[in-house]
Amino acid sequence: MMTNNLSILGATGSIGTQALDVCEKRGIRITCLTAHSNDKLLEQQARKYRPHTVALVDEQAAKRLKTALKDTSIRVLSGMEGVCVCASDDAADTVLTSVVGMAGLQPTLAAIEAKKTIALANKETLVAGGALVTKAARDNGVRLLPVDSEHSAIFQSLQGMQRKQELKSIILTASGGPFFGKTRDELAGVTLEAALKHPNWSMGAKITVDSATMMNKGLELIEAVWLFGVTPAQIEVVVHRESVLHSAVEFADNSVIAQLGVPDMRIPIQYALTYPERYESPVKKLRLTDYGALSFQKPDEDTFRCLPLCRSAIERGGLCPAVVNGANEEANALFRQGKIGFLDIARGKSGSSTSPTSPPARWTRFKAKTTTRCKTCLTRTKQQERMCGRTYDNSEFGIRNSEWMGAACGDAPNVYRQDRSFTIRDRQSLHWRVIWLENRNLRRIQFTHFQKSIVPAAAQCIR
Ligand code: NAD
Ligand code: MG
Repeated sequence: MMTNNLSILGATGSIGTQALDVCEKRGIRITCLTAHSNDKLLEQQARKYRPHTVALVDEQAAKRLKTALKDTSIRVLSGMEGVCVCASDDAADTVLTSVVGMAGLQPTLAAIEAKKTIALANKETLVAGGALVTKAARDNGVRLLPVDSEHSAIFQSLQGMQRKQELKSIILTASGGPFFGKTRDELAGVTLEAALKHPNWSMGAKITVDSATMMNKGLELIEAVWLFGVTPAQIEVVVHRESVLHSAVEFADNSVIAQLGVPDMRIPIQYALTYPERYESPVKKLRLTDYGALSFQKPDEDTFRCLPLCRSAIERGGLCPAVVNGANEEANALFRQGKIGFLDIARGKSGSSTSPTSPPARWTRFKAKTTTRCKTCLTRTKQQERMCGRTYDNSEFGIRNSEWMGAACGDAPNVYRQDRSFTIRDRQSLHWRVIWLENRNLRRIQFTHFQKSIVPAAAQCIR
């Protein structure tokens, strides 16, 4: 169903601002806008697009915005609660989730529970909470329409498919980022500035660094598993430097259908908002002769370790993708703050701070009870259930089940728990702390630093 009234979560970002451009041209009404702390830009957007409510996560910034918008009737809310109010606002038919990071999980679930169509840009939410989000969408009869360019391309290529069995595999294209072709030695000292110079796309800082490490492609692989119901083995990642062929699907008869276009996010944003219809857009026309040749190559997974890490995380299932995503969010931020090097992102290096070698005494070693019956099939014991991999996901066990975490992590790292907090201790003594908080029955998984140790331990966590 085409969107008439849209709320945007993450309106001040790269996707958010491009979406507002699309809405202006298509005459889509803006209902609510939210952002983290950029009150100046949100004020300008509020004055221009006239949403009835806006929200900023940062309380101080929200106060400033409230004062600034005094002369209008626009309601100003604050905190994650305010964002969730916007996400579930009655007047919107669609919510664009363009928050960066798994902070988007809670408002995305709020929007789904309010039965909004989701235009999904926020991939970390699906990576961290894939089972939770897709189950909520199914239960509420809500569509998840992809905004990520590759997933939009796959979605567009799948239009007209009659039966699920017709889909054989997915070809997920990757630009390779600014460091394609470089060796590990050459990557050792690369600067943030170099990492932020993406050859084809202009995006937010976090995703641009993810593109440089190829973590972005790993996240997208997991995103595709959840969006299209395929196995990781059905997805092939292909480096395509020109970013013209945005991804493709292979059907049962070996016919391959792809979507092409110049690299401009306004095409996939608009398609998600006008689906199933198409309209003219401000995006430049693709002229294939301008390119002459398009290239396709295998990714270098020895150099860009994040990609195979993500693949093994989704193959292992359970909480592993959430752990890898959380590790990356921390590591990516630490790299942007100049605290760790580029290669440390995938390596899970502890940096200069001291990592405790054992957990504090109050933390008790967590052991999954082996006698409990499996909640999925009710016949197997937990021990046997461990063998069936993917059944250990959060939707089956419910986030409140404290055994879930231990089960999900299974034999990977050591798991320590205290109430609803868990620390996963890997062999190198790096610490992960995973906390989930119950809030309206859910479901906020939060990754925090454990003492002063640095937690980019993706590699160790799923090894
Ligand atoms: P960005 O950093 O430019 O913008 C992020 C937005 O989210 C901002 O409005 C910010 O205020 C808000 N935000 C940040 N932290 C928040 C928090 N903790 N709680 C609530 N709001 C918060 O990011 P972006 O490049 O627009 O990317 C947004 C999402 O879209 C990401 O998940 C990214 O992977 C995905 N995506 C982006 C592109 C792109 O071209 N930029 C392409 C595909 C997918
Ligand atoms: Mg993408």
